[in-house]
Amino acid sequence: MIGHWIAGKPWDAEPDRVGDVYDPTTGRVAAQVAFASASEVDAAVDAAAEALASWRTASLAQRSSVLFKFRELLDDRKGDLAGIVSAEHGKVVSDAAGEVQRALESVEFACGIPQLLKGGFSENASTRVDVYSIQQPVGVVGVISPFNFPAMVPLWFVPTAIACGNTVVLKPSEKDPSAANFIAGLFAEAGLPDGVLNVVHGDKVAVDRLLEHPVVKAISFVGSTPIARYVYETGTSHGKRVQALGGAKNHMVVLPDADLDLAADAAVSAGFGSAGERCMAISVVVAVGPVGDALVDKIASRIADVEVGAGPSCEMGPLVTGAHRDKVTSYVDAGVAEGAALVVDGRDHRIDGEASGFWLGPTLFDHVGQEMSIYTDEIFGPVLSVVRCDTYDEAVALVNANRYGNGTAIFTNDGGAARRFQNEVEVGMVGVNVPIPVPVAYYSFGGWKDSLFGDSHAYGPHGVHFFTRSKVVTSRWLDPSHGGVNLGFPQNT
Ligand code: NAD
Repeated sequence: MIGHWIAGKPWDAEPDRVGDVYDPTTGRVAAQVAFASASEVDAAVDAAAEALASWRTASLAQRSSVLFKFRELLDDRKGDLAGIVSAEHGKVVSDAAGEVQRALESVEFACGIPQLLKGGFSENASTRVDVYSIQQPVGVVGVISPFNFPAMVPLWFVPTAIACGNTVVLKPSEKDPSAANFIAGLFAEAGLPDGVLNVVHGDKVAVDRLLEHPVVKAISFVGSTPIARYVYETGTSHGKRVQALGGAKNHMVVLPDADLDLAADAAVSAGFGSAGERCMAISVVVAVGPVGDALVDKIASRIADVEVGAGPSCEMGPLVTGAHRDKVTSYVDAGVAEGAALVVDGRDHRIDGEASGFWLGPTLFDHVGQEMSIYTDEIFGPVLSVVRCDTYDEAVALVNANRYGNGTAIFTNDGGAARRFQNEVEVGMVGVNVPIPVPVAYYSFGGWKDSLFGDSHAYGPHGVHFFTRSKVVTSRWLDPSHGGVNLGFPQNT
């Protein structure tokens, strides 16, 4: 049984409800995970609240030394964590290792917390009056994460949250819960005091309790758009600050002057890596001008070589659950029914693995129309659509009309066109000849429109802002010259 982690140790009460965790390569149930009740969430929040008093006053040196130690432990055990991620999520181990590597960057950023929390100081703002700003922790914060990055997404938030002096209750995805427990164990080994990081597993019951609990002051959420919107609206209506990152439909615009071989390499890598289960996956290629036929041929020929399966040389694994695989397959059926041209049918792809696994090969549609469900919906699987446009302006208008605005990329050798695109496109993260422009840890990650609710992006400077409250102090050390009553509004002299 995969259980909760509360107050620095495994929670051993029998759960009322449990969920199945699969091995996606075989389709068999590999373990069960406890689903927290509202009172178990309360126990985790209580532990976090109890730990807060001493953690928020722990020195910056103490907090950053725990993070440095955690960084070393994570680096030493990154292979173990990648194995855990791969076993429950289904992504191949090399891809899981990449996820852990990006997570490490986020930990490294948080190690610099003494520098990041430096405030401003204005000596003599008024005569013998000094003004300075300080950033203080928000308090107990909730982190709710999706299945597709079970190590990286929790580590987008947890290191910065605790570095800023908060205490955390993490509710990871119930589909691949073990990475969160591994991370909590490593933090304990690194010397994080009990209760500073707690993990509760479960579903809507646990999420709703976190959203309503009066002691929880902030929520960082990542997941699908309908749930992100719900979390944002519910959390803010309970007086919390909320950042809720949602779904995506990422377009890659290919201009006529682009190197089509490099563009096709990028489209296949970014479309089918992690079986398309990345919020920054490319799901739409926009072929501008005459490049469509050649580009589609090049993408199709590369797809034929993608090795799908569980073997060590495989590049793409199964989908996370049977239900999700069936949903993605139903989109392939719908695309055919709606009249898109099915160039490569993933339902026929040769798989190197047990037939009972949650497999679906890479699928390519051409001549996809904007009204088709394969275009309008986030599929979150290995299905790539090609839309054809005559001009650059038409391509930008298409991207901007989309309800999502997470990531996008332009492939071109024309610097002027790329510069125009970065200025005009209504998307939060833009790649120029980079198909998955996930910002490095010292910038922040976030989309626009229906891809993010709230005004703070994840990690980086926005993360520090989100996990702190600022305070400005105006200070004067009195001497006799300051005597006398004056009811006028204070002015600077
Ligand atoms: P999801 O929305 O189903 O679940 C996310 C979290 O919400 C999980 O912890 C889950 O237990 C919880 N949850 C699910 N249903 C709920 C409900 N009705 N009420 C309350 N909580 C609920 O998302 P997922 O399938 O785990 O992850 C895939 C989605 O996440 C995709 O849409 C993907 O684009 C998105 N995602 C976005 C980003 C980003 O940065 N924008 C990053 C990764 C994933």
